[in-house]
Amino acid sequence: MNAETTSTVKKLLETPKKIVVIGHKNPDGDAVGSSLALANFLKQLGHETTVVMPNDFPDFLKWLPGCDQMVIHEKDTSRSALLISEANVIFTLDFNSLDRTGDLQHILKESEAAFVMIDHHQAPDDYAIATYSDVSMSSTSQMVYHFMEALDGLDKLSETIATQLYTGIMTDTGSFRFPSTTAVTHLVIAKLMEAGASNAQIHEAVYDTNSPERMKLLGTALNNLTILPDLHTAYITLTQQELDAHNFKKGDTEGFVNYALSIQGIYFAVIFIENKQESIVKMSFRSKGTFSVNDFARNHYNGGGHINAAGGRSSKSLNETITEFISILPSYKNELTHVS
Ligand code: 5GP
Ligand code: MN
Repeated sequence: MNAETTSTVKKLLETPKKIVVIGHKNPDGDAVGSSLALANFLKQLGHETTVVMPNDFPDFLKWLPGCDQMVIHEKDTSRSALLISEANVIFTLDFNSLDRTGDLQHILKESEAAFVMIDHHQAPDDYAIATYSDVSMSSTSQMVYHFMEALDGLDKLSETIATQLYTGIMTDTGSFRFPSTTAVTHLVIAKLMEAGASNAQIHEAVYDTNSPERMKLLGTALNNLTILPDLHTAYITLTQQELDAHNFKKGDTEGFVNYALSIQGIYFAVIFIENKQESIVKMSFRSKGTFSVNDFARNHYNGGGHINAAGGRSSKSLNETITEFISILPSYKNELTHVS
């Protein structure tokens, strides 16, 4: 975090404040882990702090210490609206555009609180008085560690904070395998383990608590895999009917797209997930090398993210969405062929 942002934040936190920490819609391990950890830190500094999430998060994160005290806007709308209206400071974590918070965005846009952004996605919007944005970072959770460091607050790194941050870094780096994992990431991880984060326990709690239905749904997803070898692309589809047949729960499809990307010679992988309730098809994009799925998602699917991991949506039917996708792809043939 640069000197100017650090000094703005220090000034802001000089006196006790009412603070709300917010993550993005469909919160993942990084959004939940970084928000809980930051809230913990801010409470230790003497600020009244609450975490608000736009909607619920997957069961594989529900063991995280402190997550039972989070306010879920979708379930507790009046409470989250009140907290936001009373807040002097709002931290937005793991996103950089207010429209990533779904229905919450309208309340946020009306707030007169001072906004602070901590995020590692591309192209940040300009809504915060302090923007700590770094696209080279593995995760927002790693940035919260550096944030604490910049505020001379590492003495407040409790076992709870260490566990929350470890979870965020582990999930956002694909267990430390993505290129965004640097030597510094590992140094931070070492500090978190010293502070009490238990790597084996956290890994097991997140990855070894699958339901049988989720494993069967993975079988269906893999059965629906289509490979376009000439375009180095593979995609998976899941219809609402297939999700319903496997008692789909939030988070169940997390990571499925990586199976498509794990095929030799495939540099671009997509999963299309039908969502009848919202009348959309939600897409997750993953790539290897220089092919930017952030650009692809922004250009065609009203989305965004990182170079190698992004998301987007279509309001067409599942079949129309796939037909359109297949018609767009050939114009990227050159980029998809030379990815390094
Ligand atoms: P996922 O595919 O796992 O949902 O998301 C991959 C990455 O892209 C995450 O960093 C996520 O925050 C981002 N992302 C997912 N969906 C969207 C979207 O609709 N818009 C933007 N801007 N980013 C997204
Ligand atoms: Mn993240």
